[in-house]
Amino acid sequence: MFKGRKDIVLSCTLEVTNRKRMSIPANIGEQIHQTFLNAIATGAIKLTETVVEKTKDSHSGMQYLVSYAPSLALKPERKEIGEKRVDPFANPSPNLIVCEDLTGNEQYQLLLNKFPIIPEHSLIVTKEYRDQTEALNPQDLATAFKLIVKLNKVDENRQHLVFYNSGKASGSSQDHKHLQVFELPQNFTPFQETLCSGKEHFLPNIQQEPLQSNKVSFAHFVLPLPESSDDVDEHYLALCYFSLLQRTLSFFQDWLNERPEQTRSYNVLLTQKFICLVPRSNAKTTCNIDRASEDPKYTMGINATGYLGLLLAKTQEAYDTIREDPTVIDRMLLDCGFPNTAGIKPTEYNY
Ligand code: AMP
Repeated sequence: MFKGRKDIVLSCTLEVTNRKRMSIPANIGEQIHQTFLNAIATGAIKLTETVVEKTKDSHSGMQYLVSYAPSLALKPERKEIGEKRVDPFANPSPNLIVCEDLTGNEQYQLLLNKFPIIPEHSLIVTKEYRDQTEALNPQDLATAFKLIVKLNKVDENRQHLVFYNSGKASGSSQDHKHLQVFELPQNFTPFQETLCSGKEHFLPNIQQEPLQSNKVSFAHFVLPLPESSDDVDEHYLALCYFSLLQRTLSFFQDWLNERPEQTRSYNVLLTQKFICLVPRSNAKTTCNIDRASEDPKYTMGINATGYLGLLLAKTQEAYDTIREDPTVIDRMLLDCGFPNTAGIKPTEYNY
């Protein structure tokens, strides 16, 4: 049974109080950079070359960055039930380890993503096995946020994103709990940031729902974060996250009759400016207009980054189709999510 928001926050808060204080190395940006250069030099990782194109949906005005990376078709995907699963984070290759103890309290290691398309894409991985379907706890959130702040401080023009794909339909491929961090592309502003621009931070209540853009067709729940990162601690992040999670889970409840088979899957997107949760119904969809033919050439996997506006096509057919008609992106995002609820009055159960 899902506990109430207050119970969860209280139990997580006690957990935090009982834990040793954590601290992330001041030079973590430099450590990531050096480990990445070494890993490239030794061939431990190969940065996948991509063609990236900015594209605009003429109906909604939404901007997207679409990358084409055919060699990523070789990257491991989620194993089907019955297939042997190996945990790649249990004994990571030494060349991929940025930091064995990221927070100085033996909770997380920081690894490089072995299959990056963005340089220095890293993974915050729990030292002990925890499941990717678990909710984020205050320490996960605080670690993610502090890492973002440290990385952003290196150069204020460089903004970083942390994301979490949770559940089978979220686009995740690995079950060992991990959050991912990378630098947002230059000259790219996530629509969630635009949505939060000029808004005061708040916690949702019966009068004030989380923000949702009515330019897109899929449901998403966004909260602006305080302007000063000093005003953001694990308690505040936990309150934001759990109120959005409660909104996300009650959303699944609403759809239980129509989609009884669905798993509780969602994406989390976190920057220094906002936190966003997206409820998910499918990990993959097809971008061809004739959707009766489920040709794998047109199949696209979508994870958290897709809901920020960063799409990845692994086949020429998918890439060409999207470029010819960018309006299919919104349809695909809806296919893998749930309908937007902007403007629908919240009830006392789902604010
Ligand atoms: P997700 O697909 O969201 O579960 O994220 C898994 C992440 O782990 C992706 O960024 C993968 O590219 C990355 N990955 C998969 N296998 C390995 C590995 N052996 N070492 C490091 N990163 C990996």
